[in-house]
Amino acid sequence: MTLPSQAAIVVIGGGIIGCSTAYHLARDHKADVVLLEQGKLTSGSTWHAAGLVGQLRSSASITRVLKYSVDLYKGLEAETGLATGWKMTGCLRLATNADRWTEYKRLATTAKSFGMDMQLLSPAEVKAMWPLMETGDLVGASWLPTDGQASPSDITQSLAKGARMHGAKLYEDVLVTGFDMTDGRITAVKTNQGDIACDKVVNCAGQWARQVGVMAGINVPLQPVKHQYIITEKIAGLATDAPTLRDPDRRTYFKEEVGGLVMGGYEPNPQAWTTADVPNDWQFRLLDDDYDHFEQHMTQAIARVPALETVGVKQMINGPESFTPDGNFILGVAPECANMFVGAGFNAFGIASGGGAGWVLAQWVVDGEAPLDLWVVDIRRFSSLHRDRQWVCERTLEAYGKHYTIGFPHEEYASGRPRIVSPLYDRLKEQRAVFGSKLGWERPNWFAPNGVEPKDIYSMGRQNWFAAVGDEHRHVREQVGIFDQSSFAKYELSGPDAAKALDWICANDVSKPTGRLIYTQLLNTRGGIEADLTVARLAEEKFYIVTGTGFRTHDASWISDHIGEGLNARLTDVTEDFGTLSLMGPRARDVLAAVTVADVSNAGFPFGHVREIAIAGQIVRALRVTYVGELGWELHVPIAATGEVFDALMAAGKKHGIRPVGYRALESLRLEKGYRAWGSDITPNDTPQEAGLGWAVKLRKNTDFVGRRALEKVGGAPLKKRFAGFTVDDPEIVLLGRETILRNGEPVGYLTSGGYGYTIGRNIGYGYVRNADGVSDDFLISGGYELVVAMERTPAKIHLEPMYDPTAERVKA
Ligand SMILES: Cc1cc2nc3c(=O)[nH]c(=O)nc-3n(C[C@H](O)[C@H](O)[C@H](O)COP(=O)(O)OP(=O)(O)OC[C@H]3O[C@@H](n4cnc5c(N)ncnc54)[C@H](O)[C@@H]3O)c2cc1C
Repeated sequence: MTLPSQAAIVVIGGGIIGCSTAYHLARDHKADVVLLEQGKLTSGSTWHAAGLVGQLRSSASITRVLKYSVDLYKGLEAETGLATGWKMTGCLRLATNADRWTEYKRLATTAKSFGMDMQLLSPAEVKAMWPLMETGDLVGASWLPTDGQASPSDITQSLAKGARMHGAKLYEDVLVTGFDMTDGRITAVKTNQGDIACDKVVNCAGQWARQVGVMAGINVPLQPVKHQYIITEKIAGLATDAPTLRDPDRRTYFKEEVGGLVMGGYEPNPQAWTTADVPNDWQFRLLDDDYDHFEQHMTQAIARVPALETVGVKQMINGPESFTPDGNFILGVAPECANMFVGAGFNAFGIASGGGAGWVLAQWVVDGEAPLDLWVVDIRRFSSLHRDRQWVCERTLEAYGKHYTIGFPHEEYASGRPRIVSPLYDRLKEQRAVFGSKLGWERPNWFAPNGVEPKDIYSMGRQNWFAAVGDEHRHVREQVGIFDQSSFAKYELSGPDAAKALDWICANDVSKPTGRLIYTQLLNTRGGIEADLTVARLAEEKFYIVTGTGFRTHDASWISDHIGEGLNARLTDVTEDFGTLSLMGPRARDVLAAVTVADVSNAGFPFGHVREIAIAGQIVRALRVTYVGELGWELHVPIAATGEVFDALMAAGKKHGIRPVGYRALESLRLEKGYRAWGSDITPNDTPQEAGLGWAVKLRKNTDFVGRRALEKVGGAPLKKRFAGFTVDDPEIVLLGRETILRNGEPVGYLTSGGYGYTIGRNIGYGYVRNADGVSDDFLISGGYELVVAMERTPAKIHLEPMYDPTAERVKA
């Protein structure tokens, strides 16, 4: 065997993900693609997977990716002649308590929102479908008839054959040993059989993806974890088309296999495999059986399926699989290396994801841009924090342990905290702050009044912080609050061509005079919203850019990647240089005026401006903006002086009723004002026009910018979806997002955000209303609306304007 000396794209790894990616690159893009596998195809994690294929996830796009897998597996044999073992058995999920049942009602609604028919069944119906099961403790079950199971190795071989049929070259027994790199880009893949010059590399190396990434200087934060299941002898009475079964309250899953059962589970005390490199000769190998550790699953499974007590166990599989700190897989272009793409960390649903993940990853590799909103799996959701292997391991084990626990709204992870704290952490803690964590930062979610325990108590209804957050909210509307937003991601773009670079990158016109501040979106070539941020011009050649905490890596790499060829502009991440205090509320000016000699009158410091002002002897970047719909300033303070400036504001603000306020109140305030949140309300799937943000796009100016052509192409054609707000009066309802929107009784969309507005005293939701023939104002206004919330219909009122809008004088004067 001789390897080619060059290829356009080299895929590393011959598991299901690598084979699917190679298949789609060859089939859909006729790409010149070579796949390299150190052992034999499937020999990593793929060969020993249990083969359950579920589709529903909480993200619409990821559900679409998983649905694509199923469609592919159904039809692949017809194309390649190799069967995939796909069986549409359906999937039952069992509920044994009220909270789980509520979770399923919400899940079934999400499924409907995403176009899938999930039903809820009674224990008697479940018993009829799966007679070997004990159903005495059941409240009921959810039933998704289109889920199923497949043979992991067979699918992979079928994909590999398909890839070859479309021209891809697949090589076994070739170990990738390193990369040649120039200017941070890979120029060749080095192997034990020679080098291959290439344009792009796709790292699909499963649990080895981390160490393969390291060879190119990129971080793939995953952790191999031991995962076990058993395969039993035949069980009398078990139908060969028995649905797959998930019993999360007992932490176990089941699947029929040649007349017996596959049974495994997600234990609360998972075992990491190695935090060192995974051996390269780990092929078709398993870890030693660990019956002691597995016993907890066995006990629970026997209680559910008593036949397991007497049936023989044919085999135990103890295989390592890569898991990630948030339970989502890792896809996309590495922020550290513009031509390495990653598809790894599949958290034991790589078979379910494989077909679809390969499809979107191939498109991403070819276009350099994700084909749909893949934010929840995007590798750019991580940061340098995730280079800490110990932290990644701890958080990953927590995520694994929560795989089958009830997903309560607003739940926070507990492990590895506190990790990054703002200089105000101790002060806020003293004020009874209850913290959440975002990209490693501790952020105050709410402040517990005396008599309320400073701790989240999770439940499916209103949670223990509800009233306290209401007080914080009202305080900002009526007096003045101070938010610690030090975790905001902050960059500076400097250089003679900085303005020119931003002209191309930003949809809004940010080439304004020094001292101006502009809210803008960054669009992809489809006109979809890739980022949403604030740009302040500090000097002719210097811009200050502020974006959300979680988007730090993503937005920085998007901006860097889109600085035009040959332009002299440099992006620097200055997040840790500045603490951010947001002073918001009708009395914000009174407080600010008391601590600075700068003119903070409306004439002296108008809305949409940035000024350097002195507070407590410190030079502070003050940005006149608001995310809450009140008069306010974001004060960006040299990080070491954050405490001092905070103290000065608190002291001066005392007579104006200042108090610290947390992120949950911020969310409620922004919902009332109708500000869109990136990642949920506005995503790469949505254009500014659809999102009602057309006013922030410089189409009338004669400047070209990323996404302009796509927006122009649509021109004045009627929009097929439009963002709208909804309120629901029923105080018992809890809106969380993904609830179905009904217009005149017909589903037309689903909520992208949900919450409660304390000033208007109603539940608030936002979402896109869809109509193939166009969504005009008249179409929106003329409909009668309901929301489906946990399977129940409730009347809703549509809003095309902010639900709460203090007069311009109040906010902008
Ligand atoms: C016990 C168990 C049960 C599971 N059950 C299910 C299930 O029911 N449903 C489901 O959807 N998923 C399940 N999974 C998960 C599933 O197996 C994985 O998510 C999936 O196989 C991952 O595929 P992959 O292609 O990313 O990784 P792999 O299959 O591990 O492929 C990566 C390949 O890269 C190769 N490679 C690594 N380094 C190099 C190098 N330097 N040079 C060349 N080649 C290299 C490796 O040899 C390997 O073959 C289960 C996993 C386990 C452990």
